[in-house]
Amino acid sequence: MSECIFCKIINKEIPSQVIFEDEHVLAFKDINPVAPVHLLVVPKKHRESLNDIDVTDEAWLGHILIVAKKLAQELGIADSGYRVVNNCGDDGGQVVKHLHFHVIGGQPLGVKIC
Ligand code: 5GP
Repeated sequence: MSECIFCKIINKEIPSQVIFEDEHVLAFKDINPVAPVHLLVVPKKHRESLNDIDVTDEAWLGHILIVAKKLAQELGIADSGYRVVNNCGDDGGQVVKHLHFHVIGGQPLGVKIC
């Protein structure tokens, strides 16, 4: 049994507010949102971080960005703009060691470092 918190969410062992699900990804609301819209789009396949993907992951990795855009459109933040963020590793600020992409929007997001 995985100890990974996002694997537990994917396996419905712990609850989350699911926004979208298909065979490759689960998207759910962040438990600690930093903006009116703050989703996490997570691959069902466990990969610790972006450092752990390779060419065999291309298809579902591309799919994640398509899902992020689709959800931004459905949630009405696409036209005003939003941010898709991946934190990779400790210096990147990654806390949960299961690859995930934040989709954040619904207000001006302010300061950015890149
Ligand atoms: P990271 O810093 O690793 O990029 O982001 C992890 C994110 O996961 C944080 O924004 C945090 O609020 C969110 N998170 C951590 N644990 C849970 C949880 O159990 N449920 C949900 N929905 N989000 C979580």
